[in-house]
Amino acid sequence: MRKILIVGAGQSGLQLALGLQSRGYEVTLMSNRTADEVRSGRVMSTQCMFDTALQYERDYQLNFWESQAPRIEGLGVSVAAPDSSRAIDWVGKLDGFAQSIDQRVKMAGWMETFAQRGGQLVIHGAAVSDLDYFSRTYDLVMVSAGKGELVSMFGRDASRSPFDAPQRALAVAYVHGMGPRPEHPEFDAVRCNLVPGVGELFVMPTLTTSGRADILFWEGIPGGPLDVFQGIKDPSEHLAKTLELMERFLPWEYARATKVELTDANGTLAGRYAPTVRKPIGRLPGGGLVLGVGDVVVANDPVTGQGSNTASKCANSYLNSILEHGDREFDAEWMQATFDRHWENTQHVVKWTNAMLGVPPEHVLNLIGAAGQLQPVANRFANGFNNPADFENFFFDPEKTNAYLAEVSGAASAA
Ligand SMILES: Cc1cc2nc3c(=O)[nH]c(=O)nc-3n(C[C@H](O)[C@H](O)[C@H](O)COP(=O)(O)OP(=O)(O)OC[C@H]3O[C@@H](n4cnc5c(N)ncnc54)[C@H](O)[C@@H]3O)c2cc1C
Repeated sequence: MRKILIVGAGQSGLQLALGLQSRGYEVTLMSNRTADEVRSGRVMSTQCMFDTALQYERDYQLNFWESQAPRIEGLGVSVAAPDSSRAIDWVGKLDGFAQSIDQRVKMAGWMETFAQRGGQLVIHGAAVSDLDYFSRTYDLVMVSAGKGELVSMFGRDASRSPFDAPQRALAVAYVHGMGPRPEHPEFDAVRCNLVPGVGELFVMPTLTTSGRADILFWEGIPGGPLDVFQGIKDPSEHLAKTLELMERFLPWEYARATKVELTDANGTLAGRYAPTVRKPIGRLPGGGLVLGVGDVVVANDPVTGQGSNTASKCANSYLNSILEHGDREFDAEWMQATFDRHWENTQHVVKWTNAMLGVPPEHVLNLIGAAGQLQPVANRFANGFNNPADFENFFFDPEKTNAYLAEVSGAASAA
């Protein structure tokens, strides 16, 4: 039986560990926190996952919270005008629903499942020296430790990483008591509110440790009016600041939020990081090789809500590469090919996410504006969050955008 070590128990590491375990591999999973510590700890993400990634969880019967979590059936975009009125406002319907399940709930539950199914769960914050030793005793060592210190083993791929500094300051608050969306309250949706030159506010329903809740997530351009959370330690001050900024920039979202309270004392998060693509192979001092997984190799800014989706797609792609490799050695050539297969898809996520961090060109503004009049455009844009490769067909190139809009307008006026 092949022995595999996975370091880091997040979306990518746990999904891969549970998948390999179900196929009879002998898996050791190393986590720097116990399941209880994760469950009672700080929120880590907003973790909205779309249909393709959720399907991998269904395929491996890991969708334990699907019936309890809100079904996100739409994705809305609003753009604030300089006077804080709502210049653009539409909701696209998703072909398959999305869900956000608090990673405190999911990762803690999956860790327990992994151990109950006979997996070896080791609670230890791994250092490079540990990996040096383990690379000699395991057939394959993979590092899925997110944005932690172990990423320093993996070189930054400058050709795929256009930014060397964070592009957004992040501030998350999990709340109870959010009012319904006034438009289409009959189904749940993520709302993306864009404040040009300032940043974005995402509002989405989630399943957290205390049941259904909503997440208020500001992404602020560094140095701008939203970049004010870093020094705040008190969670109620964090929430008060979140609401104050909503009242100032997005009064229509604030109107829903006047009665909210934090879900728990660990329901806030603030931070920032530079979006980075890394080389997939880490070389240990003793000569061993390790393969990076998930955020270790591709860390996107959360502005497009893709990280957990990409981590899930990475875990699924790596799992297939491992199964197909049979009993052969997991050498550098196989590691590179395994990452390249994942990159085939993920390059589209990186390109689109980095584009969404910049000032939108005129044809993108036209596209987002047109979605308010043409429902098929809104729907296609929303479903791009599930399949970002589709943006190649109508988002980046002005000619393709114009041709697409002409086609949809023509069909609408002919109807
Ligand atoms: C504010 C915010 C909002 C986001 N919103 C979304 C969203 O809506 N949709 C989406 O798809 N993505 C979102 N993301 C991104 C998403 O959360 C990450 O991309 C995803 O969690 C990455 O999964 P991972 O398994 O690669 O790493 P992680 O989830 O970071 O897991 C890594 C694990 O490794 C552990 N670890 C670290 N170092 C060590 C060590 N030395 N030894 C042992 N264990 C270690 C960590 O404790 C952690 O448990 C968001 C991120 C942020 C910060």
